Amino acid sequence: MFWNEKTETLKKRDLETIQLKRLKKTIAQVQNVDFYRKKCKDAGIIPGSIKTLEDIRRIPFTRKQDLRDGYPFGFFAVPLSKVIRIHTTSGTTGKPTVVGYTKKDLDTWAELIARNLTMVGLQEGDIFQNMVNYGMFTGGLGFHYGAEKIGLTVIPSATGNTKRQIEMIQDFGVTAIHCTPSYAMHLAEVAEEMATDLPTLKTGLFGAEPWSDSMRRELEKKLGVTAYDSYGISELFGPGVAFECQERNGLHIWHDCYLVEIIDPATGEVVGDGERGELVVTPLAKEAMPLLRYRTGDITMKLEDECLCGRSQKIGRITGRSDDMLVIRGINVFPSQIEHVLLRIPEVGNQFMVYVDRINHLDEMTIDVEINRSFFSGELQDLARIQKKVVKELRDALEIRTTVRLVEPGTLPRFEGKAKRVIDRRGES
Ligand SMILES: [Zn+2]
Repeated sequence: MFWNEKTETLKKRDLETIQLKRLKKTIAQVQNVDFYRKKCKDAGIIPGSIKTLEDIRRIPFTRKQDLRDGYPFGFFAVPLSKVIRIHTTSGTTGKPTVVGYTKKDLDTWAELIARNLTMVGLQEGDIFQNMVNYGMFTGGLGFHYGAEKIGLTVIPSATGNTKRQIEMIQDFGVTAIHCTPSYAMHLAEVAEEMATDLPTLKTGLFGAEPWSDSMRRELEKKLGVTAYDSYGISELFGPGVAFECQERNGLHIWHDCYLVEIIDPATGEVVGDGERGELVVTPLAKEAMPLLRYRTGDITMKLEDECLCGRSQKIGRITGRSDDMLVIRGINVFPSQIEHVLLRIPEVGNQFMVYVDRINHLDEMTIDVEINRSFFSGELQDLARIQKKVVKELRDALEIRTTVRLVEPGTLPRFEGKAKRVIDRRGES
C-alpha cells in the first residue's frame, strides 16, 4: 500500500538527481542564516560549487549545541512572519531548541506521516488514538495531521489517565495506537490489572525512544497488535523521518526529503555501508529551518538491500544514542541492552532504573528491577536466587558486573513520554 507510489519507489539514480537539485537549493537557502553563511564561507562553499552529493562532506557538522546557541530564532531562514508554527524540543539542560515551520513545511511533514501510516496498512475506516503529548513535543500534532490527511478517525487523547485511555480504546473501537513503547507497556499492565482486553486493537506505532525486539514481542503479545517502529526528531520536523514497513526489517527513510550519512561519532569520518555509527541528516525539503549535516546522536546503520515492499533504502533500528551511551569501566552500555536482558527473565518485570556511581574511583552500576509476584515464592532464599540470576544474565550480556536490587512490583517510575531510566551520578562527587 502506497500513499505516494511514484516517489516512494524512485530508483536510486532518479532519487539522486532529485537529492542533488534539492541540496543546491538548501545551500542557497541557508545563506539567510548567519551561522551557515559563515560556515559556508569558511569552507569555501558557494551555492554553485556543489556538483555531487559527496561535496556535502566539505561542510562542517551542525550540532544540537549550535541550535541552542542560536536560541530562539537564529536558525530561521525565512522571516518570522512566514513561520506559522513553533515547537521546542525537550531540553535536558538550559534553554530548549526551537524549531519553526512554514505552511509548506507543515504540508511536507503531514505528507511524510501519511506515507508512513499508509505503508503499515492504515486507511480510512481505521480509528487512531494518539497517546502522546500534544504540547511543544512534535509527536502529538505531527502524527495528528498526517493521520487526518489519509482520513483516519483521530482521537487526540494525549497522555495521562491510563484507565480512561483504555476505556476509550474499548468504547470507540480503536484499531491503531501511537505512543512511546514504555507507555504501551504501562497501558498493557493497567489493562491487565483491570482484567480487561483490547480486542479491536491491531496496530501499534511506537517511537521517541529506542526499544528492543524482545520488547516488540512482549508488546505484541500483551496488546494483541502488530508493532511498528517509528523514528523522528524535532530538528527534522518531528516524527515521520523513518518508519518500518510491513516487512519490519529496518526503517524506510524518506530519501527525497533527507540526505543520510552514517559517521563514526568519535572521528566524524563517514563509515562503510552496513557499519554502525551516528546518523547525520541533511534535510532537503525544509523551508523555515534548513540544516546541513545535522548530528542526530542516534546510532544506526544504512541497509542498502531492496525491500520486498517495493521501497528502497532503509536504516537499521536505532540501538541507542551516542550521548546516552554509558561507558562503564571502559565498556559501552546502552539502556536498551539492559531492557533486552530483563525481558528474557520471567521472574522480574520490564520496568527498571539504572544508577551509575563512582566509588573509590571505580564505576559502579546499580539496577533496580521489580520482582514478578507470580514467579516468587515469598521465601528469602528465592529472592537471593532471582537476584543472582539477573546479575549473571546481565554479566553475560554486558560483560560487566552490576548490583541488582529487587523492588516491589509497581514501585518504579512509569514514563508517559520519553523514559528516563539512567541516573548517572559520577559527576556529583
Ligand atoms: Zn519495505
